[in-house]
Amino acid sequence: MPDKALPNDCFALPQGVDWTPVDIALAALREALGPVVSREALPGASALGSILAEDLVAVRSNPPAANSAIDGYGFAFDTMTDDMPLVSGRAAAGAPFEGDLPAGSAIRILTGAVLPAGVDTVVMQEECELLEGNRVRFLARVKPGQNTREAGEDVRQGDVALPAGRRLRPQDLALIEALGVARVTVFAPLRVGVLSTGDELVAAAQDVPANKTFDANRPMLLALAKAWGHAPVDLGHVRDDRKVLKERLNQAAEQCDVVLTSGGASAGDEDHVSALLSSEGVLTHWRVAIKPGRPLALAVWDGIPVFGLPGNPVAAFVCSLIFARPTLSLMSGGGWLEPQGFDIPAAFRKSKKAGRREYLRARVTAEGRAEVFASEGSGRISGLSWADGLVELGDAARDVKEGDLVRYIPFSSFGI
Ligand code: AMP
Ligand code: MG
Repeated sequence: MPDKALPNDCFALPQGVDWTPVDIALAALREALGPVVSREALPGASALGSILAEDLVAVRSNPPAANSAIDGYGFAFDTMTDDMPLVSGRAAAGAPFEGDLPAGSAIRILTGAVLPAGVDTVVMQEECELLEGNRVRFLARVKPGQNTREAGEDVRQGDVALPAGRRLRPQDLALIEALGVARVTVFAPLRVGVLSTGDELVAAAQDVPANKTFDANRPMLLALAKAWGHAPVDLGHVRDDRKVLKERLNQAAEQCDVVLTSGGASAGDEDHVSALLSSEGVLTHWRVAIKPGRPLALAVWDGIPVFGLPGNPVAAFVCSLIFARPTLSLMSGGGWLEPQGFDIPAAFRKSKKAGRREYLRARVTAEGRAEVFASEGSGRISGLSWADGLVELGDAARDVKEGDLVRYIPFSSFGI
């Protein structure tokens, strides 16, 4: 069981950096954190979405024995003649032919049947003619060993079939089962607490005055944690009340491995999360050169990391994809993640300053170009639903014209 208590200074950033570039912030997170989860054994069939804690080693080979890839007629290539006598009996999947095939004869064989001793080559039935007197003739050229599968040609017994850190997908369950592995050692899911803060927040209801805001971030962040395969823990909403906030964080430290908070992360007067974390925990404000986003608070509370995300839902979403996703994966034993992007032509124009990375809400047009949401306003939550991904514009200045290649990262590359 790894030690979950983090050193207090783990989120220190390099000195002398004013606006921290995204890559430096990511490298610092990767350096600071590591797996915190315990291990458990599960039957392979129940392990969908779990992360392998150990390399998965094949208990037996796949296929376990040489077999036929098709329905047809088998024999030893060295003894082949123009037409060959057929033995009585056949070889079928799960019902092998017992005994050796006499040299110079052939046998009816079906797909998946173990090759009887004396068979190394199979001719598909469509290329055979059955003759009087129980003989078979081949109509096409025959190559030695054709249409057979070697024992272990896919995976050999003792081979590592899946590496530790792999989050198991449906096809992996097939491989686990095919290799005769009954139970897999996986990591217990990472418990991700989600907490909203701010006096202005209320739960969705009727007759709410316009000066109140519905808590949009909490369902979003809980759903992200779930989509990424973690165990979300709803820590509710806390008003800007230091005492209540402190109690809730203490409770979180017992129930969770990591906490995502949103709102109150900047150094403003009303930012009680920041105030509390800096006076009683350890807090580092990261001024990350990213839009949307910027104030990101990284803290340690009672040994567990707390991510203080921006309150603005668009910024909270983007910062979660960029910073929280790889970090949570690392903590959950799944290793660091880099989203896969694609360079496609822009269907928009934009001139961008140097000094920060920008993420635009985007989707792909029917012509395969990246179009972006009409507004970059970070209050435009609907743009997140309009989009299918993000266009990433690097830290340098850039003048994007229509048709220029831009990096498009589909949401599916972020695991959602
Ligand atoms: P803050 O980061 O606390 O300064 O908040 C920035 C903006 O995000 C403000 O307009 C907040 O009302 C809004 N905000 C904060 N938390 C949430 C939330 N959970 N859901 C929706 N909006 C929020
Ligand atoms: Mg606030």
